[in-house]
Amino acid sequence: MTLGLNNLKHENFMRLAIEQAQLAEKLGEVPVGAVIVYQDKIIAAAHNLPINSLNPCSHAEIEVLKKAANQLQNYRLLDCDLYVTLEPCMMCVGAMVHARIHHCYFGAFDPKTGAVHSQDQLFNKPYHNHQVNYLGGILQADCENLLKKFFKKKRQKIIK
Ligand SMILES: [Zn+2]
Repeated sequence: MTLGLNNLKHENFMRLAIEQAQLAEKLGEVPVGAVIVYQDKIIAAAHNLPINSLNPCSHAEIEVLKKAANQLQNYRLLDCDLYVTLEPCMMCVGAMVHARIHHCYFGAFDPKTGAVHSQDQLFNKPYHNHQVNYLGGILQADCENLLKKFFKKKRQKIIK
């Protein structure tokens, strides 16, 4: 799929997801950030928070879904698009289907636990009652670098 005229729009929203990822990093979390867009406006922004919240489910996507649902006062996020810096895992794919997310755009691919393209293609399963469209690789290099730098620093700390 080509991005065409929407390219710049997607990149702008992804940049804001990257800012969220940077906030996560400051808290010692793996830098993953997400935003939700409704009618071309950001209605929620969040980042990875499982360590600080003592909640294994606090991935950026889950956190941003909760905020957006609260913002819209609706547990179904109809016509909302979710931007996330890293390819979602199986939990987050499930949550996005439940939330009725329209499009999911992600930055870096996750060869280890990515459940959209890399390890599995869960959005494509025929048993869902809602179809989430998706596109990966938006500002891919920037999103990858965030994670690479974070894990490099982490490894250096362990060596010291
Ligand atoms: Zn996840």
